[in-house]
Amino acid sequence: MTSHRTTSLWRSRPHDIPSTAFVEDRYDDAVVGGGLTGLLTALLLARRGRRVVVVEAREIGSVATGNSTAKLSLLQGSQLQSIRSSNIAAVLRAYVDANRAGQRLVLDLAEELGVAVQRRDAVSYATTEQGRRTVEAEHRVAQEAGLETQLVDAVPELPFPVTGAVVLRDQAQFDAMELLAALARAVVAVGGAIHQEVRVRSVGLEDAGAVLRTDRGEIRAERAVLATGAPVLDRGLYFAKLEPMRSYAAAFSVPGRIPAGMHLSVDAPSRSLRTAPDGDRELLLVGGEGHPVGRRARTHEAQEALLAWTEEHFPGAERLHAWSAQDYSTPHHVPFVGWLPRGRGRLYVATGYEKWGMTNAAAAALTLAGDLEGGTPEWARTLHRRPTLPRAMGRGIGVNAAVGWWMLKGWTAALRAPRSGPAPREGRGTIRRSGSGPVAISTVEGRTCAVSAVCPHLGGVLGWNEAERSWDCPLHGSRFEADGALIEGPATRGLAPARP
Ligand SMILES: Cc1cc2nc3c(=O)[nH]c(=O)nc-3n(C[C@H](O)[C@H](O)[C@H](O)COP(=O)(O)OP(=O)(O)OC[C@H]3O[C@@H](n4cnc5c(N)ncnc54)[C@H](O)[C@@H]3O)c2cc1C
Repeated sequence: MTSHRTTSLWRSRPHDIPSTAFVEDRYDDAVVGGGLTGLLTALLLARRGRRVVVVEAREIGSVATGNSTAKLSLLQGSQLQSIRSSNIAAVLRAYVDANRAGQRLVLDLAEELGVAVQRRDAVSYATTEQGRRTVEAEHRVAQEAGLETQLVDAVPELPFPVTGAVVLRDQAQFDAMELLAALARAVVAVGGAIHQEVRVRSVGLEDAGAVLRTDRGEIRAERAVLATGAPVLDRGLYFAKLEPMRSYAAAFSVPGRIPAGMHLSVDAPSRSLRTAPDGDRELLLVGGEGHPVGRRARTHEAQEALLAWTEEHFPGAERLHAWSAQDYSTPHHVPFVGWLPRGRGRLYVATGYEKWGMTNAAAAALTLAGDLEGGTPEWARTLHRRPTLPRAMGRGIGVNAAVGWWMLKGWTAALRAPRSGPAPREGRGTIRRSGSGPVAISTVEGRTCAVSAVCPHLGGVLGWNEAERSWDCPLHGSRFEADGALIEGPATRGLAPARP
């Protein structure tokens, strides 16, 4: 029996989020996606006098942001050395400047809007000799980029020994949904509209701007920003440049002392720690076990691994919430932010934060507000001009080779699948073969559903995710409920019903 809740700590709390009634209308700017990127971009544009609408397919915060561990940090595990190894030094410095500006924006808005923020040290720690070399390299690269990091040999507040760590003082953390709710209220307060549960199916271009075709009707705007995580348009082929990575998190009550800092291991398997105020107590959040979406079998073992690790290091820990979410990596480890190719200057995109979206989404919002309304920051100009180096090109080729391999693997297995069999046991899913193509059959809460097993985005064969009870595409990360309803990813439609 599951005794913990399977929503994130933030999403399980009540939040006052405004929603406006849908009407077909024309706006100055339309923002697709109500996560951190979308709401911050909408707020900055609305405060510059633009008439803005946010169109969110589900609920505000229901995809990455509301499931984030929400550390607002310029020290990001070993991310800075990954960026440096795939880019020229100027790009790393611009990335750090962008994140610094993004951090500042979030802190200023949090203060203005009354969102609680805890200032904490960020710590990237190692438990192996190889990891020690990684933290030393991170320290060097961080200093090169202008960050005042410190290299230390011990982290006394962790309940296990480390071989070294790099520390950046005075970073921050918060409740991701508290921030989103405050931003949504601020957007509405300056005359913006927020439509929830309205999915954009496609975006067209006409002389006067963009037309969002939603499942409720059309919205017109001079310009549209896709702040949807994976872009929901295939223009620019971003789906082929992004690697969707799913990872897991859990909130625990712990009887003893818990470390105050925001810690992240640089060794595998990665472990992310932070505290979260919960009434008059502090909870411990633990994250990790990342993997490409749809490519890990037995996903429930990821949550069990986090639980076992936490129980080992924090005896008596009780798991209260466990959840998972995904974010997107780019070949060069720097987000894609700017105009969409063949969008005639009307379409913009922001994605690829590699699980560092709290600062990067804010940097993206600053970039987009500058690109659209004037005043693009200097760091954004440098990032716009970023050259693609051979190492990043190689990584992009590797990502696409893996996609090809998973396409082949999925179809080979589907063509060999049995045509019939008993209904799957509770919580399980299986692929069957039928005359019209592979069929995905699952049983959830006593209901057996049969839907097409072929992702409507680009035709990958889906795999069952038993931790989330969803059908996940191993190609580009689209995910679907057991009954075929679209959850997230680049797909814009759900799965067609099928005959079992
Ligand atoms: C487990 C995990 C932990 C993380 N921890 C941290 C952390 O500690 N610090 C940090 O900086 N970052 C962290 N991140 C990363 C961060 O959470 C994300 O980068 C960030 O939230 C992305 O924000 P977003 O607004 O771009 O995307 P989202 O929050 O996913 O918002 C996109 C929205 O677009 C909507 N949408 C999609 N398609 C459509 C459509 N067709 N029509 C209308 N709406 C649509 C979705 O429903 C969604 O609400 C973490 C990520 C994960 C997965």
